[in-house]
Amino acid sequence: MILSNNQYLKDREPRVGFISLGCPKALVDSEQILTRLRTEGYGIAPNYEAADLVIVNTCGFIDAAVAESLDAIGEALAANGRVIVTGCLGAKDNVVRNLHPSVLAVTGPHACEAVMDAIHTHLPRPHDPFLDLLPPQGVKLTPRHYAYLKIAEGCNHRCTFCIIPQLRGDLVSRPVGDVLQEAETLAQAGVKELLIVSQDTSAYGVDVRYRTGFWKGRPLKTHLTSLAAALSELKIWVRLHYVYPYPQVDELIPLMAEGRLLPYLDIPLQHASSRILKAMKRPANSSNSLERIRRWRAICPDLTLRSTFIVGFPGETEDDFARLLEFLREAELDRVGCFTYSPVNGATANALPDPVPEEIKQERQAQLMELQAAISAQRLQRRIGQTLTVLVDAINEEEGTAIARSTADAPEIDGVVYIEEGVKLPVGEFTKVQIVDADEHDLYADLLNTR
Ligand code: SF4
Repeated sequence: MILSNNQYLKDREPRVGFISLGCPKALVDSEQILTRLRTEGYGIAPNYEAADLVIVNTCGFIDAAVAESLDAIGEALAANGRVIVTGCLGAKDNVVRNLHPSVLAVTGPHACEAVMDAIHTHLPRPHDPFLDLLPPQGVKLTPRHYAYLKIAEGCNHRCTFCIIPQLRGDLVSRPVGDVLQEAETLAQAGVKELLIVSQDTSAYGVDVRYRTGFWKGRPLKTHLTSLAAALSELKIWVRLHYVYPYPQVDELIPLMAEGRLLPYLDIPLQHASSRILKAMKRPANSSNSLERIRRWRAICPDLTLRSTFIVGFPGETEDDFARLLEFLREAELDRVGCFTYSPVNGATANALPDPVPEEIKQERQAQLMELQAAISAQRLQRRIGQTLTVLVDAINEEEGTAIARSTADAPEIDGVVYIEEGVKLPVGEFTKVQIVDADEHDLYADLLNTR
């Protein structure tokens, strides 16, 4: 049975079947494609029936190999119906398509990227907020005025609800010179805002013991503070995501207060009860988070704090949840996302006792979001009357407004600033506005020169 995209989204991860024919070089291609599939969260199906789509990596070396490959494609089509062809025979697109016109896509050998593109088209993976660093639509080519910059891959932690380290391995920091070179290229190409991402941004450089790298012949430590300071020289917005509150984060706050980095921290705290944080095996226990948040705000009063939380983690009691709500009341975070706990295949938390019933999870999520909506709304009220620099993302011709973001708003996940009579503003440019109204998420502004 072939599942439609919508069916598999509801029930399970999308699964790909794989037939690998040919020589060792083809085998390496297969390994690369399989690695990418697993990294991106696809399952590998053991047979045609269990697959949502089948990849056939072909051989075209001798006639017998061509015949074997064409037979394998035919068999996969008959048994499954959704087939992508790659490999040496794929280089002869017409040979494949003449006999099997219904194949979904054909690529040549060593074409991992092209195969992945075809899979993303024909079997898109649902967005998983626990696994994905990037928003569901991935890195957009437009608007071109902001870009994600990944500084490391993998993670050294072993949070019990997460399988990222199993999928992507331990932390591997990119060389500081490479990161800065990419950042500079993006800035030169017109990018006005860099969104720094990794699984654990604060840990940047731990794996290489903060070794010294070079940028433009200048020695620089592979360390978040030196990287952030160097990025600030590009004179564009630099926004930090997935920053765990390790001590070195304190060093970033003065850079924010000086206007060199955006005064914005995305800190995935996940909970506030030390019992639950321990069960989650979170890298930084939040026992002193409140104190640090107060200190940060004293140094940089404009600091915007964003965080995400999980409710309904196994063993979460009413007391634990009350502790979380109390933390939110005291911390007065600006932006909060909240997920109900759901088991991820392969995560160690799946074996924990005392699961929280689904309806209690939902109730807690609603309660948390209601509390936070009031906090966020109250914090946004403080903006009314302020003059802010915003970056214009889009124009809504019908409404006659421009949609922009302030330093407090990351794209896709935070609020926006609606600018009245802003239709003539250039997209991707900064402008100054005066805030005239606010709700729970968004701000409303007039163009400064219209008032
Ligand atoms: S810090 Fe924890 S949640 Fe984040 S990627 Fe590492 S193991 Fe997963």
